[in-house]
Amino acid sequence: MNETFMRVALEQATLGAAAGEVPIGAVLVVNDRVISEAFNQPIGSLDPTAHAEVLVLREAARALGNYRLTDATVYVTIEPCLMCVGALVHARVREVVYGAVEPKTGALVTVMMLWTAFASVFSLLLGYSRVPYAAALEGDYFKIFARVHPKHHFPHVSLLWLGAAAAVFCLFKLADVVTALVVIRISTQFLAQTLGVIVLRRRDPDLPRPFRMWLYPIPAVLAFLGFVYVIVMRPKSLESIRLAVLVIIVGTVLF
Ligand SMILES: [Zn+2]
Repeated sequence: MNETFMRVALEQATLGAAAGEVPIGAVLVVNDRVISEAFNQPIGSLDPTAHAEVLVLREAARALGNYRLTDATVYVTIEPCLMCVGALVHARVREVVYGAVEPKTGALVTVMMLWTAFASVFSLLLGYSRVPYAAALEGDYFKIFARVHPKHHFPHVSLLWLGAAAAVFCLFKLADVVTALVVIRISTQFLAQTLGVIVLRRRDPDLPRPFRMWLYPIPAVLAFLGFVYVIVMRPKSLESIRLAVLVIIVGTVLF
């Protein structure tokens, strides 16, 4: 099917070339039916936004009487530019199929993705580096982690260690890392926290509690059961639970 519609898009691109435009064609398809087709025509229509993708979106929205095209697939001969990617997202298009990569705009998107990924990893590291730092300050962790940068006053030792530890995970498969993260976070953090609420209340009933949990303890119990369900229902759950237990034991021994 892809090929048939891509051929329609290519025909449009040829029409664009004949009209003296940059030859890019697009076709919008819903349930294997062509709704609209167009070629790139900023020059002829004196409209810098008249890219093939935008034109098929406009025409399809009018034809279908809906600006949301959730069932649509757009075939375009060349990787869409940033503007068109934005328009395709606004139109809630289900799928975009493009023929050839466009090195210029494609590279731009890659750079933006790398930049975002870098920023997200960096801000996470900054945040989590405070955990060993705080533990070291209280005397529960290696003293060196309590050191702060002499000039900029942030826990640089902790940050560098965490960065190095995080880099090690680049050596594993992404899917495995994600699985490990889900299981470890649920088993060591979320489950422990939901139980912790109940234990704390039992042990220290007079502790001031500025935050109230409505219908206590039902939300905590439900959350606990929900997280157990998420872990147990995973494929190969036994294997990952075994690994998580191993991590907990190693961590406890190290601590
Ligand atoms: Zn475009």
